[in-house]
Amino acid sequence: MWGETETVSCIACGDDVARQDAREYDKHGDRWDRDGKDFEYLCKPCFRSLSKHARDGLEAALEDAGAGEVDDEEFLSRFLTDTRGEPAGRE
Ligand SMILES: [Zn+2]
Repeated sequence: MWGETETVSCIACGDDVARQDAREYDKHGDRWDRDGKDFEYLCKPCFRSLSKHARDGLEAALEDAGAGEVDDEEFLSRFLTDTRGEPAGRE
């Protein structure tokens, strides 16, 4: 261990999670070309819920939500609305 836990923010719910517990998500679909990339992360609950969607559906949903094009707040708001089909804030 490194003695210090690095945390990352889940792109779906915005929670801070330990990087080691997060699931890496590369919207470019190429995890092996890491140069100059900022990886995104999903916490386990979000990863599980997103995995219920077909991969193509997830990619499309992220694209539709403006991944990489709008700021995080706008992206999350769009993404949650698109994927859940109900207002944010309801568990
Ligand atoms: Zn999450």
